[in-house]
Amino acid sequence: LSTTDLIEEHRICVCVRKRPLNKKELTIRDLDVITIPSKDVVMVHEPKQKVDLTRYLENQTFRFDYAFDDSTTNEMVYRFTARPLVETIFERGMATCFAYGQTGSGKTHTMGGDFSGKNQDCSKGIYALAARDVFVMLKKPCHKKLDLQVYATFFEIYSGKVFDLLNGKAKLRVLEDGKQQVQVVGLHERDVKCTEDVLKLIEVGNSCRTSGQTSANAHSSRSHAVFQIILRRKGKMHGKFSLIDLAGNERGADTSSADRQTRLEGAEINKSLLALKECIRALGRNKPHTPFRASKLTQVLRDSFIGENSRTCMVSSSLLTGGWWVRPNIHVVDLMDYDWD
Ligand code: ADP
Ligand code: MG
Repeated sequence: LSTTDLIEEHRICVCVRKRPLNKKELTIRDLDVITIPSKDVVMVHEPKQKVDLTRYLENQTFRFDYAFDDSTTNEMVYRFTARPLVETIFERGMATCFAYGQTGSGKTHTMGGDFSGKNQDCSKGIYALAARDVFVMLKKPCHKKLDLQVYATFFEIYSGKVFDLLNGKAKLRVLEDGKQQVQVVGLHERDVKCTEDVLKLIEVGNSCRTSGQTSANAHSSRSHAVFQIILRRKGKMHGKFSLIDLAGNERGADTSSADRQTRLEGAEINKSLLALKECIRALGRNKPHTPFRASKLTQVLRDSFIGENSRTCMVSSSLLTGGWWVRPNIHVVDLMDYDWD
């Protein structure tokens, strides 16, 4: 099966990406508990102790649509995940790509690009790679004649509230009309003509996302960032690609905190990830009912969960919490502790 076939067949594709151990983990000789023996299998080695206290590793294997080892580049991850979804939006569809995982597992690296060095490079992230291919596709004769316009939005959902990252973090209202159409009122949709335009917007949004924060990661790990590429034809929506850097899913950590604000944030994140899980499950099993109203995140992504032509891809980073089945044999898995249902 090709990537496109897989997505055609299932409407959702679930992948896992292992990141390399970082300097600190190497220094303290952290155990590397994950091996990727083949392109769709993840093996987890869980340190255990026998009754006589001898230590051993228990190996468990998990299947994914794709498993990417720590030598995989963003470009490769992109090719098998978001790339096929670019076609979807030209075919009048709704595409969604999520990065899911604990803080520090590599979500922003995958979606936004490389921010580790001095030169922050967003051109290698899935946001930018998808935008690049949108402009390539736009030049195809069959698409040229459609006269499509490209727009981008970038917003953040933090504690159940929506903020426009392309408009100084203006707080936005989400409204649902009688026909269940969900609108983010006043969200700035920027006209983009080329990849360079998109890169500039990503930079603006990223700096807006982290500004005024003592610890950038502390804030960004508690919010969902949604970057959208929208195709319009004569003003009407033709297709939409939502690329999402989800809030860190560290379970329990935030809800047990002494600090009230942190606890509330944690509860809100859990609520939205749970709602997302339910919506994705419904999508994976072609269920008629999608419980999108349960959180702001799923509410603003409503379009992406309904409709014949919706396609979703989930890229899980390797340090995960909360395993759950997406469809038989394919799940987003907790690679650190296993208590899935
Ligand atoms: P998250 O957004 O999930 O909290 P980040 O994307 O910020 O995690 O990644 C945490 C750190 O690990 C960053 O310094 C990032 O550059 C690095 N990192 C993540 N994934 C990779 C990778 N595949 N290769 C190299 N470095 C990575
Ligand atoms: Mg991040």
